[in-house]
Amino acid sequence: MKFKQLVLASHNAGKLKELQAMLGDAVQLRSIGEFSQVEPDETGLSFVENAILKARNAARISGLPALADDSGLAVDYLGGAPGIYSARYANGKGDAANNAKLLDALKAVPEAERGAQFVCVLALVRHADDPLPILCEGLWHGRILHAASGDHGFGYDPLFWVPERDCSSAELSPSEKNLLSHRARAMAILRQRLSLEHE
Ligand code: IMP
Repeated sequence: MKFKQLVLASHNAGKLKELQAMLGDAVQLRSIGEFSQVEPDETGLSFVENAILKARNAARISGLPALADDSGLAVDYLGGAPGIYSARYANGKGDAANNAKLLDALKAVPEAERGAQFVCVLALVRHADDPLPILCEGLWHGRILHAASGDHGFGYDPLFWVPERDCSSAELSPSEKNLLSHRARAMAILRQRLSLEHE
């Protein structure tokens, strides 16, 4: 692989560990927290824009190639909302409030119109002004349940029905979720892109 080290544009130690495990040993992920505690404003209107913006910022601060991810839940009936605003859908009141707001927004919506996808976009920039970021998109298609179910995971997992397993993503074990999830899919593409780049 071409990159020995990448700075991950996230202060979340759990995310670094999860992405490092998916990426394998050939590339070392370092936290942006080693270089700065300041987080950039996510001013984009799409996952792609925000992932690129975070990756550029991390590369600028660290002087190293940088990887960023941006993820969330896009609900068909809501025109893709909460989308890039997934974490703060209920104005920063947390996961339980986000889930309650989503259930309420869909309370009269029939089964067939409850389609949704978890989205993960990874952006890798070789340097802050890289004109050709490597972009990898992972989508995980499912449906929004009528009530929460399961205790694993985080965020919208209890409301997301996984067709491959006929259960919510909060009912999957962490290792099973890591095989199926939007992040796993985006990371699989990135691994492929990095080894293709090497050829
Ligand atoms: P972040 O990109 O990890 O900060 O995620 C943004 C938000 O999207 C989270 O706060 C969750 O609300 C939602 N989200 C992203 N990935 C997942 C997931 O795997 N399960 C449940 N919710 C998720």
